[in-house]
Amino acid sequence: MKKLTFVVFVFLFIFSLPCFAAMSKHIVDYRIKAKLIPEEKAVIGYEILTWLNNSDMPVSELQFHLYLNAFKNNRSTFLKKRGRISQSIKPDKQNWGYNEIRKIKIKNGADLTSAVEYIQPDDGNKDDQTVMRVLLPEPVLPHKRIILEIEFYAKLPKIFARAGFENNFYMASQWFPKIGVLQEGKWNCHQYHSSSEFFADFGVYEVEITAPEEYVVGATGKRVQEVNNPDGTKTYVYYQEDIHDFAWTACPDFVEFHESYSLDDPPVKTEIILLMLRRHLKIKKRYLDSLKNGIEFYSQNYGAYPYPTITLVDPPLKAVGACGMEYPTLFTTMGAWFFPKGMLLPEMVTIHEFGHGYWYGMVASNEFEEPWLDEGINSYSEIKAMAKYYGEDRSMLNLGPLKISDFTFQRAQVIGSGRIDPILKKSWEFYSGGSYSLNSYDKAALSLLMLERYLGEDIMAMVMKTYFERWKFKHPTTENFIEVAEDVSKQDLGWFFDQFWRSPDKLDYAIGRLRSTEVKEPEGIFEGQYKTDPKNKEKNVEKIYKNEVSIIRKGELIFPQEVLIIFENGEEIREKWDGKNRWKKFEYLRSYKLKFAQIDPENIMILDIDHMNNSRLMKPNKIPPLKHALELMLDFQKLLTWIGM
Ligand SMILES: [Zn+2]
Repeated sequence: MKKLTFVVFVFLFIFSLPCFAAMSKHIVDYRIKAKLIPEEKAVIGYEILTWLNNSDMPVSELQFHLYLNAFKNNRSTFLKKRGRISQSIKPDKQNWGYNEIRKIKIKNGADLTSAVEYIQPDDGNKDDQTVMRVLLPEPVLPHKRIILEIEFYAKLPKIFARAGFENNFYMASQWFPKIGVLQEGKWNCHQYHSSSEFFADFGVYEVEITAPEEYVVGATGKRVQEVNNPDGTKTYVYYQEDIHDFAWTACPDFVEFHESYSLDDPPVKTEIILLMLRRHLKIKKRYLDSLKNGIEFYSQNYGAYPYPTITLVDPPLKAVGACGMEYPTLFTTMGAWFFPKGMLLPEMVTIHEFGHGYWYGMVASNEFEEPWLDEGINSYSEIKAMAKYYGEDRSMLNLGPLKISDFTFQRAQVIGSGRIDPILKKSWEFYSGGSYSLNSYDKAALSLLMLERYLGEDIMAMVMKTYFERWKFKHPTTENFIEVAEDVSKQDLGWFFDQFWRSPDKLDYAIGRLRSTEVKEPEGIFEGQYKTDPKNKEKNVEKIYKNEVSIIRKGELIFPQEVLIIFENGEEIREKWDGKNRWKKFEYLRSYKLKFAQIDPENIMILDIDHMNNSRLMKPNKIPPLKHALELMLDFQKLLTWIGM
């Protein structure tokens, strides 16, 4: 009887457990204790890292990111190149940031502290210490684990970009020694570049954060414990599986809000946590509503949001460098409490940063090497979400008669720019920060939207869903994305990606000449083929016109063309052309003249840089007002380029 009770108990216990199947392969396991020392603007950390050699080869060195060293001196690769960060924003010379490794040892084994050296795999810049190499006394054998104990000191810089402090606000991101990714026996561990984000393996994070008790703390993952310490500090423990990074924030001025959120289809249950400054509360509802819209949109279009929490952090305006950044299950939005309702930047940034939880957070491509796979796909998703919740034509600006959509806004940037890089490039190899962001965000997003119009909305929706489902937690590459697009659409799309992803060239087709000329009666000497009937002239026979429509390919890129031709009497013709030659002429003999011709009548060619030359009337019309609206927008976009995103 006793035995039976025990069996029943075990049985009930097992089946009462929630489904714990890991979503990702756990390569890393971090247990970190972190203590915030506000007087020093620093974090003292102790990290136990268990790393799995998931390869078939022994590994005799480990490589780590020490991102805070990007802020250690003005010769770091990050600060030398600047990328998207304006030269006018200067690091605070009293407050450099750095990661100091105080001790690193193998658990129950050798002390490796003296084996630490800095390497610069990307540019050989010896002043850059953002990648650390540690040689091991004995290799980690294939499919075996190594456990390291690391004592470190993270001195936070005054916020300049992403991580640091501003007064009593702390954003601890990229703050701990983080191991690189071993791929086919080689380390993929890039230096920290200003135009690049991140790449890491999935695993488990359990992080204890101790801060003075008046600080409000928020972090990646779920808070599983909090303890008041006798010394006036408080310790919070956070835990999350299936993530590849961990960030936290602390500020005594934060107000913390919790709200549970659920969705029936697909089933989602998560807790929304907002950390806001009291003086920003006016915008709370806007943040909350847009975050809920984001969760709903991404869950319904890509896959159910699987984590138990999502934390929105609203940094002070002075810490703008920390704004608009994503981390697993936590993101910073834009401290824009003063924005009028019709300026939808707070909504856009909130949806965008939440959306990264999918492409950066779960799909997790290599953002150093193929930034578009995160930023481009996410900007595409953002445009669609913004259009759904805030209106197709007004999702960015909705101020009385002035309405601009997120789509138009991004298109204005692409058509107004010089084209010097393709989309596919390593993030730090773009000509400039502007070129990085233009290609990785805007042009990539528009290229996907163009693909959507070319394939049809339903097929594209299937492509995106399949891509997320097939590749989440697996670090796909561009080739994997193309494979999915071709599989789902059952079409060869190599030509599309080759042109729009691998070439910086322009797409520009135009209607060339429209001409209707009267066909004259034969005159002159013809060796007798024609018999001129003198009576015809008197009878006033119907005139015949030769109607000519020419299309010109002005850009280098080739795209199949459809042409709509309308005659004066209302007759409509649609023609197709493969678009390959430099021009194509269509001719029609009719008893009436041409009225109008238009290429791309279905408006597929989003990337065509000049839509104004896509149609022409025989009798020229006034220039449509749209042209002026676009110019206005180009000025407006300059205002916004300073946000991180
Ligand atoms: Zn982004």
